[in-house]
Amino acid sequence: MPDDVLVPRFANFRSTVFAEMTALANRTGALNLGQGFPDSDGPPELLAAAAEAVLAGHNQYPPLPGLPALRTAIAEQRLADYGTRYDPDTEILVTTGATEAIAAAIAALVPEGDEVLVFEPFYDSYGAAIALAGARRRTVALRPDGGRFTFDPDELAAAVTPRTRVLLVNTPHNPTGTVLSAAELATIAEVCLRHDLIAIADEVYEHLTFDGVRHVPLASLPGMAERTLTISSAGKTFNATGWKVGWVCGPERMVAAVRTVKQYLTFAGGTPFQHAVAAVLPRRHGWVETLRSTLSAARDALRDELTGAGWQCFSCQGTYFLQADARSVGYADGAELCRDLATEAGVVAIPSSAFYADPAAGRALVRFAFCKSPAVIATAAGRLARFAGDRQVQEGVLRWRPGRRSA
Ligand SMILES: *Cc1c(COP(=O)(O)O)cnc(C)c1O
Repeated sequence: MPDDVLVPRFANFRSTVFAEMTALANRTGALNLGQGFPDSDGPPELLAAAAEAVLAGHNQYPPLPGLPALRTAIAEQRLADYGTRYDPDTEILVTTGATEAIAAAIAALVPEGDEVLVFEPFYDSYGAAIALAGARRRTVALRPDGGRFTFDPDELAAAVTPRTRVLLVNTPHNPTGTVLSAAELATIAEVCLRHDLIAIADEVYEHLTFDGVRHVPLASLPGMAERTLTISSAGKTFNATGWKVGWVCGPERMVAAVRTVKQYLTFAGGTPFQHAVAAVLPRRHGWVETLRSTLSAARDALRDELTGAGWQCFSCQGTYFLQADARSVGYADGAELCRDLATEAGVVAIPSSAFYADPAAGRALVRFAFCKSPAVIATAAGRLARFAGDRQVQEGVLRWRPGRRSA
């Protein structure tokens, strides 16, 4: 037996910077704006429904496709919010979080050696899911244009090859905070239709958009419903990331393919949590509005304080995340900045290079998660502002006129 028993296709996935940064937060006592999980619970009726379901004896395997009541609630929500129709019996599959949905979809739909096209930066599980399937990854860059990350339509068109099976799209986008516009989605749809690609749309932040920006599902564009699998996460929608309840909606033959793989990954689980989500999804509106306004206030508080102190922040239209440029506080390398922030400022962030196949491309960027209480955000923002001020005094690194914290 070799010392290193891990198969080569996973050699690059051994440890993550998320684990490193969380360990650093724990060791230093720094405020953790690294990993993206909320620090408060979801709606009380959701928690009560889960507790009741446990005590009512809903503790055995749910049906493979998910509880019928949850699938019905999902179908009604898609119709009400987006006008898209799904048959709860054949076109909706409940999964163990969006993560399982992504892994099962790629394994089910991409033959070994064929390609998945993905926008870079991308959520870190995509790379591992593609590797697990023995598929190949090709990337199309998202780059800042006027502070907002977007793609070049010509680069997208040029990245498609005869081996491309799936275009994997994430909107609202982690880590950039971009919510794809109608025009951008139309460009993506046109490429899918022209090359007969399947689209996998990771829309876990579908409800978490700000400033009146609306999320448009890729599947709602003309011609796309029959080739798009849409992935959602109750964890993200209801501040219950530890429950791992997600789902896939799409055409019957695609959902059936995903179900085939999914039944041998986890089969099915989370019965009491599925009951709770089924009970609360039809009554989501008040909660979603509250969550949106809480998150956008947190984004504003963090962004305004950082910007005022000389940090260059990028546009954020949705999600939990705000990106900043490490160079604006005198660092070329976001990973080095994150280590210093943990020990010197008492704040943990994630170097965005973790979301790049080519880490050099995202070297200068860092990601802050603002899905935290107002008090945590205020304290963290104050520390980050002071850090920038101190750097400025020490090294005179800031080239533009800083705002209210000039030395
Ligand atoms: C959090 C997240 C997921 C995973 O969702 P789970 O339901 O927790 O598995 C998938 N995609 C993106 C972009 C995410 O940010």
